[in-house]
Amino acid sequence: MDKILVTGGAGFLGSHLCDHLIERGDDILCVDNFYTGSKRNVSHLFNHPHFEMMRHDVTFPLYIEVNKIFNLACPASPVHYQHDPVQTTKTSVHGAINMLGLAKRVKARILQASTSEVYGDPDVHPQPEEYWGRVNPIGIRSCYDEGKRCAETLFFDYHRQHKVDIKVIRIFNTYGPRMHPNDGRVVSNFIVQALRGEEITMFGDGQQTRSFCYVDDLIEAMLRMMDSPADFTGPVNVGNPSEFTMLQLAETVLKLTGSTSKIVYKPLPQDDPRQRKPDISLVQAKLNWTPRVSLEDGLKETIAYFKTVLV
Ligand code: NAD
Ligand code: UDP
Ligand code: UDP
Repeated sequence: MDKILVTGGAGFLGSHLCDHLIERGDDILCVDNFYTGSKRNVSHLFNHPHFEMMRHDVTFPLYIEVNKIFNLACPASPVHYQHDPVQTTKTSVHGAINMLGLAKRVKARILQASTSEVYGDPDVHPQPEEYWGRVNPIGIRSCYDEGKRCAETLFFDYHRQHKVDIKVIRIFNTYGPRMHPNDGRVVSNFIVQALRGEEITMFGDGQQTRSFCYVDDLIEAMLRMMDSPADFTGPVNVGNPSEFTMLQLAETVLKLTGSTSKIVYKPLPQDDPRQRKPDISLVQAKLNWTPRVSLEDGLKETIAYFKTVLV
């Protein structure tokens, strides 16, 4: 049986990952400082004999014994990561150093949840892994983008210098049940606004694009990456290449909720990427993975979840 550390395990993606690992029969240590995550996301696992929860901030050292590490700790929504930008960079960079130091000491395999944000506002479309990105180093998104880029640097240097067994996935926009209602990301915002009959807040003209992956598809890819041969380190893109404008997303959410909410236009935040779509040929070839859940089907599940938490 594997003893697995999941940092950020009480968050949106982390809690789904813990569910899948427990189902598989693994022994889980879930570490989280509850900055954006919540005990509620994993409370159904508290009595499970193979699940343990620890409140801990990954910017501080952690001495434990495990053989696999999923490093997910980091706020992911622009609203949250910009709330305390210094802490965001510390979490990405100091968190990576501590988790890599741990992996080195106990000889654990370690997977980093990196992000499509390493490509910034891209001038190559769709984005392949070879693209180095177009990132503003001093803007309001930089704490996240550059923090995640530096974490990738650390992963590859620990790999080259200390032979740490690493895996790096670049996650594109992922959504699903357990996103926080006040998370600030577009899918949760639009669904919550539609269900409450509030105005739909469209930033900019709504022509910017994103490609949305349903959480179950994403977790499947993450598990396959962790169990892939050691010579495949990544970085590898993981996401759904179906691309939508934010206006198309709003219209789909309005249709599926039957809401009569009106769309209102707000200023586009600084450095907001105009387009984003993963090139997934590498993950398809190496991990034989392809996303299966359509946007409409995934949104239906997510809407059903928000109906239960908004009552
Ligand atoms: P989330 O905010 O729901 O989860 C992040 C978790 O990390 C939370 O539980 C939070 O409390 C915890 N955390 C934050 N700082 C911490 C610290 N210093 N120490 C310990 N725990 C800390 O976000 P998510 O969507 O589940 O994202 C998980 C990971 O995946 C993040 O690393 C994020 O950058 C990455 N990612 C997510 C997406 C996406 O679309 N969801 C896209 C790209 C990358
Ligand atoms: N570290 C940790 N747990 C461990 C081993 C190391 O948290 O089991 C942290 C420790 O705080 C250290 C960091 O990881 O600062 C990097 O470790 P490394 O061995 O690479 O560096 P060094 O200890 O030589 O600075
Ligand atoms: N967005 C929007 N209204 C909202 C929240 C976000 O129009 O209420 C836009 C945002 O400007 C961006 C896109 O939706 O262009 C995706 O935003 P999100 O914060 O979900 O993710 P990211 O920008 O990090 O991909």
